[in-house]
Amino acid sequence: FDSTTSFRSGSRNGPPALRHASYGLETFSPYQHRDLSDVSYSDNGDMELPFGNTEKALDMIYEYAKEELSKGRKLMSFGGEHTVTYPLIKAYNEFYRDFTLIVFDAHADLRRDYLGFKYSHACTTRLCTDIIGNENTVIIGARSYTAEEYEYSDNILHFSTDISSIPMDKVKKNVYISVDLDVLDPSVLPGTGTPEPGGFAFDRLLRDILYFRSLNIIGCDIVELAPDYDHSGISSVTAAKIARELLLSM
Ligand code: MN
Ligand code: MN
Repeated sequence: FDSTTSFRSGSRNGPPALRHASYGLETFSPYQHRDLSDVSYSDNGDMELPFGNTEKALDMIYEYAKEELSKGRKLMSFGGEHTVTYPLIKAYNEFYRDFTLIVFDAHADLRRDYLGFKYSHACTTRLCTDIIGNENTVIIGARSYTAEEYEYSDNILHFSTDISSIPMDKVKKNVYISVDLDVLDPSVLPGTGTPEPGGFAFDRLLRDILYFRSLNIIGCDIVELAPDYDHSGISSVTAAKIARELLLSM
């Protein structure tokens, strides 16, 4: 789903590219000393969504997530654009009383609306705060936002490129991790719709994600992979590697 992408679209092609790139990776993680063959997971395939109808598409994601969560599963979801996090958090909120949303993103995504429309990837984290509260929202790596978003960021639990200053005593035991891949530097991951210079190296993002491994990761998503902007394929394999590490962390 990439209907509201503000700059250049193409993240609808993210999941198949990530899946294909994953076949080239080992199942063993040298970072966690664990193997995917030791954990139970399934690939449910790609959802068919009405790309021209944002609200209908988001509603279908919400219903699908609820159905899977009711079976006692944890979800790792792939975008598509970052807007898909909103219906996922809406569904999770019905199954988990208390959790903290950890967002890795170059952008604050705290706009109230974008060009008059609130269901936009520029508003997705703000929509999530409406559901779970500012006090349960952490944004890491943001380096692009408006003055209004910067002012609003004071209200959320943590807004910084540095995880060491997160007040961990206020982070819930259950966490949901949303990885907007543009948190990585465009030199590391050029295949994304709104690249933003000055970002994380791969090692840095991996270290920061694994920092939350001691908590209960109830779900996660990896979004904004737009593989057609990267003919080398580095972006897809980078995204797949993050997926492997997150899957093992869950
Ligand atoms: Mn985003
Ligand atoms: Mn972003």
